[in-house]
Order: sequence, then C-alpha cells, then structure tokens
Amino acid sequence: MARCFHCRRWILGGILHNSQRYCGKGCRDAATADQLIATIDATVFERMIRFAREQVCPTCHGPGPIDFYTRHTATCLLICLSWKDRSKLCCRRCGFRHVLGGLVWTMIFGWWHIFGPVVAPWQMLNGFRQLASMRKSDAPSAEMVRAVALDLAAIRSSVEAGQSK
Ligand SMILES: [Zn+2]
Ligand SMILES: [Zn+2]
Repeated sequence: MARCFHCRRWILGGILHNSQRYCGKGCRDAATADQLIATIDATVFERMIRFAREQVCPTCHGPGPIDFYTRHTATCLLICLSWKDRSKLCCRRCGFRHVLGGLVWTMIFGWWHIFGPVVAPWQMLNGFRQLASMRKSDAPSAEMVRAVALDLAAIRSSVEAGQSK
C-alpha cells in the first residue's frame, strides 16, 4: 500500500506522476498547482486571482466576484447509492442557490437506502460547511487559487513552446 503524496490517504493503485503517487487526478492537479504557486511572485499572483474573480457571473450575468462553489449531493434510492461533489464557477448569489439545491436534493432523495442515514447526513454536513464558509469570508477558495495557477502554467508552457520554435 502507498500513500497519496498530496492528501496522505492510503491508496491502492492510484496514478504515478513525476515519480510520486497520487490517489487521483484531483490530487495530482492540486499538488502540481501547489508547486507552481510556490514559484510565482505573491503580489502578482494575488492580482491575477483578483482579476480572475472580478468577472461577470457566467450564470446570471450579474457582477462578480465569482468563485467555485461546491454542491454536495447524496442519492440513495432502493438499489441506487451515489454521492457527488460538483463545483460551479459563479457569483455568490448563484453559488448559494447551487449549494442549497444540493441540500434540498439530499433531504428528499438521500434517505431511501440502507446506507442513506450514513451518506445523507455526511453530504448535508459538507453542504452546510460550504454555506458557512461562503458567509464568513471573502477570500478566494482553494479551488479558485489552483485554477488560476494551472491556467498560468498552461499559458507559460504555451509561451515556452512558442519560443522554442
Ligand atoms: Zn490524494
Ligand atoms: Zn450569478
């Protein structure tokens, strides 16, 4: 058994990247982003994040700031048991609706399976946590910071590819 280099979870299999093992794509990208962030000038990076967030909301076309908000749902119906975390890039108002929609979904469809009482409260807790974090801070989410870093990496590598031609 190995441990994920990013989240330190014990994993079977996983994926190998730069001779480190990760539990999945999410952790690999997060680790790549973290390494990149360390190499970027802090003030420049902060400005880039602010710029990325000061966009019009893609959902309601209202003013920003925008960020990633994660909807947590559990669907437990007879033989169907699944849970999902789906993030959306939008303004806070749309984000609130997005997260709340997940809570309502779980409240209705999360209980009708033998494991429903385990999965549903877990996903609802995640949902409430997301709502609480939206309320208390205006700071960009970790997902937003990583998205900007990965964007920057993509731009950088395409510039380097252009120069080497
Ligand atoms: Zn991991
Ligand atoms: Zn919106």
